[in-house]
Amino acid sequence: LTNGLLIKAATILDPETPLRVGDLRIAHGRIVEIGRRLRREDEEEIDASRMLAMPGLVNAHTHSGQSLDRGTANNMPLDLWMVWSVYGGPELTPEDAYTTAACGALEMLASGCTSVLDQVYLPLEEFDAHAEAVLTAYADVGMRAVVAPMVQDRDFLESLELEHDAGARPLAPLSQTYEPRRVLDHLERFVASAAGRTATLTAALGPTAPQRCSDELLGLILELARRTGVGVHTHLLETKTQRLAAERRYGRPIVEHLAALGYLSGDVSYAHGVWLTPDEFVQVGCAGATIVHNPVSNLRLGSGVMPLQYLIRRGIAVALGSDGAASNDSQNLFEVLKVASILHTLYGARRSWLQPEDVWRACLLGGAGALRAPVGRIAPDAAADIVLLRLDRHALGSRQRLVASLINAEHGESVDTVVVGGRVVLREGASTGVDEVAVRQAGRAFMDRTAACLPRRARIYAAYEQAIGRSIDRVEIDTLEPVKWWPTPGGC
Ligand SMILES: [Zn+2]
Repeated sequence: LTNGLLIKAATILDPETPLRVGDLRIAHGRIVEIGRRLRREDEEEIDASRMLAMPGLVNAHTHSGQSLDRGTANNMPLDLWMVWSVYGGPELTPEDAYTTAACGALEMLASGCTSVLDQVYLPLEEFDAHAEAVLTAYADVGMRAVVAPMVQDRDFLESLELEHDAGARPLAPLSQTYEPRRVLDHLERFVASAAGRTATLTAALGPTAPQRCSDELLGLILELARRTGVGVHTHLLETKTQRLAAERRYGRPIVEHLAALGYLSGDVSYAHGVWLTPDEFVQVGCAGATIVHNPVSNLRLGSGVMPLQYLIRRGIAVALGSDGAASNDSQNLFEVLKVASILHTLYGARRSWLQPEDVWRACLLGGAGALRAPVGRIAPDAAADIVLLRLDRHALGSRQRLVASLINAEHGESVDTVVVGGRVVLREGASTGVDEVAVRQAGRAFMDRTAACLPRRARIYAAYEQAIGRSIDRVEIDTLEPVKWWPTPGGC
């Protein structure tokens, strides 16, 4: 099986080359030739004369386990949202892990996204079965995935700055605590089991956030990453409360602490980074690390505005992510692109406002860097991850402004055919890899179970709301503060 494909007469939109019409020859998962009137060899031919060919969008941060948890959470700050969504949510079986990953992947493909960095929660008690289910789901649906098991060894409550009333009953821990070595054993097996499975699946390591991990675990994870060559992905300074709590814990800013642990490097990508100072952004950027911007989730949880405009203008590597559906509430990358494109007119001089082309490049080229994969381009030797969109749909306005139309007007309704690693995974909008009706039925059943646990969620939330809410209210939070810290520093 060579996965040979010849895509004929497509209008080709690449972030680095001018718009043109041409044929794309695909073999062994890569684009091998681009030209006019290429002769068909022993390969499948697709007539794309009415299609726009764009590189598949890259989602550099999500959590597949949440992909069916949508519409259940109010607008609330992250620390409280965690109690509601993460610790109050439904228990997942390995079958649920398959269903949520498959449904999320189908939604992303149908809205033009072909690769994802999935920082997925896998319970340590049933780690291998859950890991297997998630990897199988991505392989079946045919989406490119970097799967980073999300781990921690400290309790979530310990990472907050809670003040306890004298005489009040202590709060019960929300998360299990583990021996760092035990966590590492699981990760080590995971990296081995994911290796060589298919060309479109890669392992990475996903410590959930530095403040929820011991330094010992962070050190072990970094050592495993170096030894096996896999990447590391973690949340960083999503909220102001995290910044203050981390400074108390480490006695210095968290970025300084991460630098001392060896975490500032091109092998690491950081989700959010809303509350870094300008100097810290430059320090992280100069080390080659990528910041993954999740604008919809940040707005949903009132986390603040990550100064994307300033990062892009200074050449700091940035990618885009949806974040989990529990804080989004969809997995549609076009929606993320649009919000990223229009949010950053809130600050800065009009000449430095971001334009659709800026976020388009961040999504594709920055996303490729975050996933450490040859995606995001339609160019010789790039991965054959290609989305064909129907040019006759209204969303795609004039050919002179295709990127602007894609970002501001498209939601995925023009997506027709999707190719990942040279394999046609969506044909006329329908999955070629799985029985979508069956997967959606399983998804619906899981959502019903999720709805049934709403009263339990409310009970858990009520038990923690006061103490955690007080720790948030104590802090004066101006969500535009991160953009007011600028402008200052120079480049690398
Ligand atoms: Zn996240």
